[in-house]
Amino acid sequence: MNPAGKFGPYGGGDTRLRSGGSQTGSDLVRSRVALRVRLKSVTPGDRLPDAGVLAEELGIGEITVRRALEGMCQDGLLDRRRGRAGGTFVAADWDTVVALMHDAEEAALLDSFHLLLECGLVAHGAGEVPEGSLEGLRSLVAEMDLAEDPARLVELETRFHLDLAELLGGAGIREFAADLLGRQCLLQPPPDPAVVRARNRCHADLLTELGRGAMDPAVRAVKEHQRARPS
Ligand SMILES: [Zn+2]
Repeated sequence: MNPAGKFGPYGGGDTRLRSGGSQTGSDLVRSRVALRVRLKSVTPGDRLPDAGVLAEELGIGEITVRRALEGMCQDGLLDRRRGRAGGTFVAADWDTVVALMHDAEEAALLDSFHLLLECGLVAHGAGEVPEGSLEGLRSLVAEMDLAEDPARLVELETRFHLDLAELLGGAGIREFAADLLGRQCLLQPPPDPAVVRARNRCHADLLTELGRGAMDPAVRAVKEHQRARPS
């Protein structure tokens, strides 16, 4: 084999990120289960939908889903229970297991991909955002300002970015953002609530600028979000 790797000397030893949108079915299952936990559509201790249901929702084969769930059980992210009340459950210590999987380098790469995606979407869409379509995002920002529960805050933060991607890029781009954000959920612990609150100021600024069709300040707000720290 070519010593530089199958696809040539693109640098780095890790092929996971290089696949871009064409991640494996197993990666898809992992990232989407992680995203569901982040969005609290399932919580630690909850039973996951059956493999057949997940396969249909994700548009991939049931065998792939079963294999991916098996891998997640081996990693300690999920628990398999037998018997009548059996099934596949989100591990009660999900957060602890995720903390052990921490990979700062890959998380940072995904972060910069997501930043580029958002900057591109905002630059592309600014000036063409229909009147009234920002209302859903504005109410998320208002809800985040009031949220006390850290998990709720992080959930709303994730929703904001998924909804923003959909508003500016459509359903396919929402899925693309979901890939990036879902994979991140498994590589780094959720952001600190104080950081999310600081980011929420950037969300508000971004919506203001999008509302008046100001592209440069809108892109700046996206970049500020990345740097936001509690004051
Ligand atoms: Zn945010």
